[in-house]
Amino acid sequence: MEQYFQKDIETMPVEKIKELQSAKLVKQVKHVYENVPYYRELMDKKGVRPEDIHGIEDLHKLPFISKSDLRETYPYGMLAVPLSDCVRIHSTSGTTGKRVIAYYTQHDIDLWEDCCARAIVAAGGTKEDVLQVAYGYGLFTGGAGLHGGSHKVGCLTLPMSSGNTERQIQFMMDLKSTIICCTPSYAAYIGETLKEQGYKPEDNSLKSGIFGAEPWTEEMRRDIEKALGIKAYDIYGLTETSGPGVAFECKEQKGMHINEDHFIAEIIDPETGEVLPEGEKGELVFTSLDKEAFPLLRYRTRDICVLSREKCSCGRTFIRMAKPMGRSDDMLIIRGVNVFPSQIETVLLNEGYAPNYRIEVDRVNNTDTLDVYVELLPEQLSDTTEGIVKMEKALSAAITTMLGIRPAVHLVPPKTIVRSEGKAVRVVDKRKLHD
Ligand code: ADP
Ligand code: ZN
Repeated sequence: MEQYFQKDIETMPVEKIKELQSAKLVKQVKHVYENVPYYRELMDKKGVRPEDIHGIEDLHKLPFISKSDLRETYPYGMLAVPLSDCVRIHSTSGTTGKRVIAYYTQHDIDLWEDCCARAIVAAGGTKEDVLQVAYGYGLFTGGAGLHGGSHKVGCLTLPMSSGNTERQIQFMMDLKSTIICCTPSYAAYIGETLKEQGYKPEDNSLKSGIFGAEPWTEEMRRDIEKALGIKAYDIYGLTETSGPGVAFECKEQKGMHINEDHFIAEIIDPETGEVLPEGEKGELVFTSLDKEAFPLLRYRTRDICVLSREKCSCGRTFIRMAKPMGRSDDMLIIRGVNVFPSQIETVLLNEGYAPNYRIEVDRVNNTDTLDVYVELLPEQLSDTTEGIVKMEKALSAAITTMLGIRPAVHLVPPKTIVRSEGKAVRVVDKRKLHD
């Protein structure tokens, strides 16, 4: 039988969710307008006042906030409560530039941990589980978020943090971890290391994993599930909206349920800012409804995805977001063609390679170049040079079919591409160096 962490909320009829969101939005806009001068100015400039917001139907009247606003107001310009009411600070990973920070009251932390607890329960977690947190701790939100959620569910929590893979595996085996949480790239690395140590997927006690913080493909999911002998669940979030747990996958594994009692999600056209109807692909925008210290109205995530209100067999009524394809700024434009690194990952894994690759883009004589470095599998190492050239050509052809542009593929020896313990860095765009 399906288990929920907060059944009444997670299965609330859609109409009720919308009523709840409307009521919370009115209050939240007032809170922000009164306490955050920066946002008040934006609203004044747009000619919208808190009294104009009567419910979610008025959401579109509000101005957007983006990462550059957060960088501009760094560190405390978005604070909506006295700093003395805050109990914690986290920071983004800085994947796309200067880090931004977020501050939390105890109430903010509580609700965030509830969201993570919902994700853990949806992945089959109960108080009988041993949950290994292999996300980084520190200022990153992954470790602390899942840690708090794990406590709420009552799991036996192993606060491992990321890295030190030998020790991860030792404790995983000795303490019989049943759930592991980390980035998908780190999960793949742990799977690879287990195999090297002679373990078979059925030797560990893991039943599920909760992976997120970076884009990963369905092919990658399949690989991780096979390597660890588990069911792999996706979890999504960003520091700006608290951290992981904004959305989580249920056993259906068809998109992640967004915790709509705390967040309103919109999809917009990234060029025009126009709100798109459900089912269309665009940029994900979040409005936080309950956050006290660092509330964000219409925050542009730059993550590209699709929402669906289709009924889910798990009984949860929250809207679902598809796996984000990556951020709009992860998208590479190569010789005029839009390329997401995840498309290349799909091809590599479908062709039987491991998810160890690096994409290099450069510009030579005014033409963009695309080089894809992929590790040979250990059993391919003995192949002749001729054989390897053939494999490179085959892989290049498969990528060309997917992207419409031809890359130069380089098969490199096993273990020559750095493994990731946190968010994997797969793309080197050297064109930026010349600009
Ligand atoms: P940074 O923006 O510096 O990476 P965060 O650690 O807050 O800082 O990361 C949030 C971002 O991570 C999201 O905006 C999104 O791009 C990515 N992300 C998080 N979870 C997922 C997921 N499940 N799938 C794809 N991307 C994700
Ligand atoms: Zn579901």
